[in-house]
This record gives sequence, structure tokens and C-alpha cells, in this order.
Amino acid sequence: MGVIFRHPEPTPGNIRIRPVFLPFAGCPGRCVYCAQHLQTGVLPTRLDAALARLRLELEAALAAGRGPYEIGFYGGTFTALPGDYAERFTALAGEYRERGLVTRVRCSTRPDASDPGRLSVLRGLGLDMVEIGAQTFDAGVLAISGRGHGPDDIFRACRAVREAGLALGLQLLPGLPGHTREMFSRDVELAASLAPETARIYPCVVAAGTRLAAMYEAGEYAPWDEETAAEAAAEGVLVLWRAGVRVIRIGLAPQDELTAAVIAGPVHPAMGNLVRARALFTLVRDKARELGAGPKRLVVPARYAGEFWGHGRELSDGYAGLGLPRESVRFADVAVFTMCFEGEGQAADFFSRAEQPVSVS
Ligand code: SF4
Repeated sequence: MGVIFRHPEPTPGNIRIRPVFLPFAGCPGRCVYCAQHLQTGVLPTRLDAALARLRLELEAALAAGRGPYEIGFYGGTFTALPGDYAERFTALAGEYRERGLVTRVRCSTRPDASDPGRLSVLRGLGLDMVEIGAQTFDAGVLAISGRGHGPDDIFRACRAVREAGLALGLQLLPGLPGHTREMFSRDVELAASLAPETARIYPCVVAAGTRLAAMYEAGEYAPWDEETAAEAAAEGVLVLWRAGVRVIRIGLAPQDELTAAVIAGPVHPAMGNLVRARALFTLVRDKARELGAGPKRLVVPARYAGEFWGHGRELSDGYAGLGLPRESVRFADVAVFTMCFEGEGQAADFFSRAEQPVSVS
């Protein structure tokens, strides 16, 4: 009865990350697009003060019975913090892991700041995961974006993270100066081939006060429009999901401080949902095409009900074009999709059987 298939998204983790923002700390320069102080709403701060504040906050959380949390050190280049601050922050988080408040410790960093020796010391102190800001694997785009590292550094960094026994995350930034859809498709393939545990996709935006803003105002840079960014990201997440990578962020969060400072670029209040819905549409469309016939009915796991039709139901016509108008789609408490084709039984019969839980390996 019909064709059964799964959504390729790896099971989402139940993560509660308590971010600790250290804007620009450890960064050797400023990448053209970067406005970490706006994005995080935190001004560059003295590291000793940040460390003391974190201890107070963790102690208060423990006393109040809050948590447990993952701690994430973000906003700068954690593994290149001056002196032994990376070790001190990690050890502090490690201490609260011992005390039951912290479950996991992660940080973000640059590819060229992934010294194997330091990674292994940090691993020993309690670091579990490193998210590498790869952005793109295109050497020219990295250069124009003022990154100061090349694609080889990304591969080296990923290897070093793994060899230190740490989990790997990757961040991609489609739409940087000179970046094209084709380059992004290649970036996604390369990212998937590195098999990170997680990925983030942040379509590039122009924030006030950055060098990118000056380039934009001088007519030297045009960001991707919302449609291009959403289509590219939808294609990207599908490739990453199929490779078993959890995509933990797509675009800026609406409450992100950076959103208010964006002067141009793809900022959509529901970018994540928009992209996920389009990726799901592609999945259903490809499945229908692969089977070479127009589908007549579809049962969808209820967990996708909120995103299936797309933002503002933008995908209704597309589904209707596939042969799946509203009345031929049902949501049920099942784990898999079931698609029925012409001549495969009556609607009532199909829906009642497809809505039974099915187990598929
Ligand atoms: S390395 Fe990261 S945090 Fe530092 S300036 Fe560049 S993008 Fe911003």
C-alpha cells in the first residue's frame, strides 16, 4: 500500500545551550561582515570580568536548581583567547559539570586557531565540542571577506578537532562577497563530507558599522535576496540532513540583536521554518518523481504539520501541482510518510491504513 519514506532529518537533540558571549575575544582582525557585539548584544568585555561573572551566574543557577545546561562559548575565537583564558573558562564550566549543572561544553572558533596541542588540553579540561566557522570553502570569497585563512585551514581544523576527541560543528555563511549558489552547493557537499555532528547556516546580511556595510553603500557588494537565500539554504539542509548532520540554526533568530542593525540582506522572521518547509517539499516532490507517477494521497507525520504547507501556505500550489491538494494530505501520529498513487485503493481505506503506526528500519 503506497510508498513509505522517512524524513531525512536526524533526530533533533534536546539541547539547552547557555551561551557565554565573548565578542571578538581572540580574533586576529575583523571579518568584513562581522558585528558580533550587535549580534550578541554584548559589548567587548574584559575577560577576567567575564570569567568572574560566569562563576557568579553558574553558582546562582545551581543554588536556584536551574539547568542542566550546555555551556557554549561564542562570539569570538575561543581557542585563541589570550593567555590561558580558554583553559580557565573551560575549567570553570568543567567544575560545574562535576557539580551537575553543566552537561556539555562547546565553543566556536576560527579554522586557523585550531592548534592540536591546545585542543587536546581543552579536551582534558572538559571541552566536548568545537564549532568551526568555516563560512565557505572558496579561497577567493574567504580572501575578499577578510577571513585571513584559506580552505586548507578548514580541513586541517576539522581533522584536529576530531583527533583531539572533540565533536565537530560547522558554520556556513552563504552570500558573502563573490559567493554564488554554485559555490554554496559545493560548500554544503564539502561540509557534509566532513561529517560534522551539527551545522549552522547563516545567510550573509549587511550590518551597520561593518566593512561590508561600506562595500554595500559603495555599490561593491549586493547581498542575496530572501528568495535566493531561502532556496539555497533549503537545498543545503536537505544535503546535510541526508548526510546525517543536524542543522541547528538557519538564519538569524528574530529576537537576535543583530536583526535591528541589518541594513540589507535576507532577514526573514521565519527563515528557519521557510527553509525547512521548502526542503520538505523538495523531498516529497523528488520522491514522487522518482516513482514516476503523480501521487494521489499523502499521510504526513504530525510533527511536520506546522511547517508542511510553508510560510503563509506558500507551498499549497506546489503540492497541488504534484497532485496533492489540501484534501489529499493528512497528518497522523506516525513516524513515516506514506504516499499513495493512482489505483492504490480508495481514499478512506488508504488513510485509515496509513495512519496506523508503521515501523521501518
Ligand atoms: S573571526 Fe568570527 S568573531 Fe572574529 S571577527 Fe571574524 S567572524 Fe567575527
